[in-house]
Amino acid sequence: MMLGYLLARAGIEVLVLEKHADFLRDFRGDTVHPSTLEVMHELGLLDEFLKRPHQKQVSQIRARIGRDEILLGDLSLLSTHCRFMVMMPQWEFLDFLAEQARRYPTFHLRMETEATGLIEEDGRIVGVRGKSPAGPLEVRATLVVGADGRNSVVRDCSGLPIEDVGAPTDVLWMRLSRHADDPELFFYADRGKALFLTDRGDYWQCGVPAPKAAIAEMQAKGIEELRAAIVELAPFFENRVEELRDWNDLKLLTVRVDRLRQWHRPGLVCIGDAAHAMSPVGGVGINLAIQDAVAAANILAGPLGEGAVSAEDLAKIQRRRSFPTRLTQTVQALIQKQIAGRGLGSRKPTRLPWIVRLMERTTLPVKLRNRVIPVGIRPEHVKTPDVLKAA
Ligand SMILES: Cc1cc2nc3c(=O)[nH]c(=O)nc-3n(C[C@H](O)[C@H](O)[C@H](O)COP(=O)(O)OP(=O)(O)OC[C@H]3O[C@@H](n4cnc5c(N)ncnc54)[C@H](O)[C@@H]3O)c2cc1C
Repeated sequence: MMLGYLLARAGIEVLVLEKHADFLRDFRGDTVHPSTLEVMHELGLLDEFLKRPHQKQVSQIRARIGRDEILLGDLSLLSTHCRFMVMMPQWEFLDFLAEQARRYPTFHLRMETEATGLIEEDGRIVGVRGKSPAGPLEVRATLVVGADGRNSVVRDCSGLPIEDVGAPTDVLWMRLSRHADDPELFFYADRGKALFLTDRGDYWQCGVPAPKAAIAEMQAKGIEELRAAIVELAPFFENRVEELRDWNDLKLLTVRVDRLRQWHRPGLVCIGDAAHAMSPVGGVGINLAIQDAVAAANILAGPLGEGAVSAEDLAKIQRRRSFPTRLTQTVQALIQKQIAGRGLGSRKPTRLPWIVRLMERTTLPVKLRNRVIPVGIRPEHVKTPDVLKAA
């Protein structure tokens, strides 16, 4: 949606296909980091964006690991325009982008229209096949962009080789009501269990990572064990954990972490999770996808305006975004190993290594994490023009 908006803003004809009838899906997380807010600022949209319903602006991100409470991020130390993160559900975010994009006559969005395959001619992708309530359709285009997430149909059909980085856990996703005096911690880990929380106003969106191999066994044991695990990590849930009546009150979200070895082939490029599926760690995936979109628009607006995109133009996108992606995935894997992986399934109290605890007393780890996650490595800046301003 962001790439569609940026290209339409630069005067390029764009058609975005979205398979669902609305954006009311609950599977992507809400963490809009300073990197994305910076892009909104550069686009002149920040004030309008912040008028959209969202849960507070968070500067300090705290977690409890075993007995230690640590500061995962202190965004007030940043030099970006916004020194906070916004918790905004993605349906609000996507609705906002779609509304802004519709101001441009070259932007077209077809909801309830699913890409089902690619059209290839002489080794070049020249369009997509799809289906909508009105029936099957074919769309021809100078360039097809696969931005259809971690289960991307476009990348599956492209034949581009995938490198599986491996994700040992999936996530159990559930809601528990939120009380005004609940602690403001976003992550809890101890004794082989972890819990991450997103503030949605009157409820917490809760995620419990669980080893893929153990989920069937957990379900067989019944909901009581999961309830007990939640209360052990975050005792304030004791008076409401019964809201989880049975397993029907939970969703199982599949996590995958992988990346394409090559993000493109003639006539096609993948970005966001379609190019590199991200784990939930650090709540960084949507922000990385936005960074990809900004980089892709900066590189593609000129060639698309001239009606031809070369293999070299597409390769430039991967060269620009591959390093930040790999490094972020590596940092996510390290955090997962250090915190949750250290004992998912074990009963031993989680204790951060002494060297980590010592370092946590300085601002160095916070500054390093600040650099990698909220700002992003190699932050992108909007360089594409706005045709409405030029007119
Ligand atoms: C459990 C879990 C929690 C997470 N929490 C966070 C978090 O808090 N913060 C964060 O930043 N990241 C989080 N992530 C990662 C984040 O969800 C992804 O990195 C991010 O959504 C990628 O954005 P995207 O635009 O590439 O893909 P998506 O957000 O997945 O968007 C893809 C879009 O394409 C549509 N689509 C899919 N297939 C088709 C098709 N065939 N035709 C047409 N449309 C199609 C989908 O409906 C969707 O709207 C989490 C991931 C998981 C697994």
